[in-house]
Amino acid sequence: MAVPQRRTSKTRKRKRRTHFKLSVPGMVVCPNCGEMKLAHRVCKACGFYNGRSVVEQKDDLEDAE
Ligand SMILES: [Zn+2]
Repeated sequence: MAVPQRRTSKTRKRKRRTHFKLSVPGMVVCPNCGEMKLAHRVCKACGFYNGRSVVEQKDDLEDAE
């Protein structure tokens, strides 16, 4: 098994890990309801896209069974 020749220093490890960060996918505020939504997609909260209702929204999704 390959084994590292030298111990990685704290600084070197931390410098490498500066690139380990999560990026939020292109999120924008919905102009209709103000929820965060993915850009160029129908709003999940209100079903609006490009200023009009595209998807009908069910109000009681929790009780639907
Ligand atoms: Zn919306």
